[in-house]
Amino acid sequence: MCAVTFMSILAAIGGGPAVRPIRAFLLSLAIAAAAGFWLAGPVLYRSFIGLDPSAFPAGTLLDGIGRALLPSLGFSMAGVVLVIAMLLAIAAASFAFVRRASRSQVDPSRRSFLTGAASGAGAAVAASAAGGALMMARAFYGVGNEGRGWRPQATEIFGAKVENTSPTWPDAWKGSRVRAYRRLGRTGVEVSDISLGTGALQGAKGESIVREAIERGVTYIDTAPDYSGAGSENAIGRAIQGQRDRLFIATKFCTPQGHLPPGTPVARYKQVLEDSLKRLGTDHVDLAHVHSCDEIDRLMDPNMHEAFDQLKAEGKVRFLGFSSHTPNLVQVASRAIESNRFDVMMLAYHHGIWPSLGDVIARARRERDMGVVAMKTLKGARHNGLAGFRESAGAYSQAAFRWVLSNPEVSCLVVSFYEPQHVDEYLFASGSEPSARDHALLRRYDEVIAGSYCPPHCGACLDHCPEQLAIHDVFRFRMYFEDYGWEKRGMAQYGALGKNASVCAGCAAPCLGQCPAGIAIQDRMIESHELLRLA
Ligand code: SF4
Ligand code: SF4
Repeated sequence: MCAVTFMSILAAIGGGPAVRPIRAFLLSLAIAAAAGFWLAGPVLYRSFIGLDPSAFPAGTLLDGIGRALLPSLGFSMAGVVLVIAMLLAIAAASFAFVRRASRSQVDPSRRSFLTGAASGAGAAVAASAAGGALMMARAFYGVGNEGRGWRPQATEIFGAKVENTSPTWPDAWKGSRVRAYRRLGRTGVEVSDISLGTGALQGAKGESIVREAIERGVTYIDTAPDYSGAGSENAIGRAIQGQRDRLFIATKFCTPQGHLPPGTPVARYKQVLEDSLKRLGTDHVDLAHVHSCDEIDRLMDPNMHEAFDQLKAEGKVRFLGFSSHTPNLVQVASRAIESNRFDVMMLAYHHGIWPSLGDVIARARRERDMGVVAMKTLKGARHNGLAGFRESAGAYSQAAFRWVLSNPEVSCLVVSFYEPQHVDEYLFASGSEPSARDHALLRRYDEVIAGSYCPPHCGACLDHCPEQLAIHDVFRFRMYFEDYGWEKRGMAQYGALGKNASVCAGCAAPCLGQCPAGIAIQDRMIESHELLRLA
């Protein structure tokens, strides 16, 4: 259907089937680029927000297709499948249009058929590359969108897991407790300065970690329906029985599949929160966030606000908040402050984060007395795996927390606990100030990760390598070797690559300057080959 529409646009602009092949080719490229930029780019941009399938046309069907292809992924695939369908439509329409133009230039014969097919195939590849490139430029680099793209966030925040324990577990940490409570803005509630993030928590193990954290003085628990596919809310629900009254529980307006799009009916908003209450085994939550909010439309959706007001009047929720760590963070936070509808905001905030963020936090506090919750505080959390940094890993997490909490405008930080050790390691930093040693350690962490960290899900350089090397895999195997201490595994996996980095030394390096993380790819590939090769 999309391909047919695209084809008719091409035919109309190109003057019908008699158009010359070269003109047809250029037209198909131009229209593919426009479609990639204006149609697929915004869809890809929105896909990264993690929206519920209902946010996309035919979302349920598209999500079903995505799940059939990749059943292990726990989030909505509707947007990604829609983007792929658009690129395929662009390729198919370009193929048909250019083939028809090529065949119209000569008498029908087998040769002309082959010529048309070859031209069409070339046009399909070129059109999908042009459409895809413009789509990525818009979604990742913010071209045409005031520079608001996902690249900085993807490399700095989503590119790493906030999950690993320190390799050491000193006795001094054991039995650590919360030592400070802070006022959560105008909610007036005093909450533990280090609070329980539950994004990776589920099952009996998750339940026992929640119990232990509560026993050590944690009072703020942050969860969401889409954490561990509702497993987080279920585990918390079992753990908090009998202790509900001394806890402050925050969840999100979303489903286990993703975030609700603007325009979702009031009844649906209410239903998803009531589903959370059932899983949590409580009659109310203290705070409901608009989850991972990147769009003013979603932040200010009148239906969501009406649902919140009704739920509040019914005693099912007390306060409204939003969470954001996305390209529009400053704009979304500013609008939230202006609206005066929100009691709390939850933002990605760690050492060295965007300078403008401190101003936004100060405004939220000064103008609206909002509570401020910091998340993603470990800046990629590579500390446990870095060679030469392992001994400092526990001290790093604690230094990073102290840095965040040294801002008096921050009410508390939320960090993901999912190993029993986290309770000791993280709570050890509660109520303490950053020292000169902490600041030095944070600086060292920044130095160590600069220009060396190849985040998962990037791949921006791959199309620039004529040898089609799996550059990201090579760097991952090197990380296994150097940072994780899995030398054998790193070498074995490198050895199993079809093509390795031995070719880099003699290459003209078109990969140069293509890495958004600042990696000198050729040099690092050559070094990696020396490190990982078996002989
Ligand atoms: S230097 Fe290596 S990674 Fe870079 S383009 Fe050449 S072969 Fe590919
Ligand atoms: S080396 Fe390639 S995959 Fe890794 S961060 Fe740089 S561009 Fe991305």
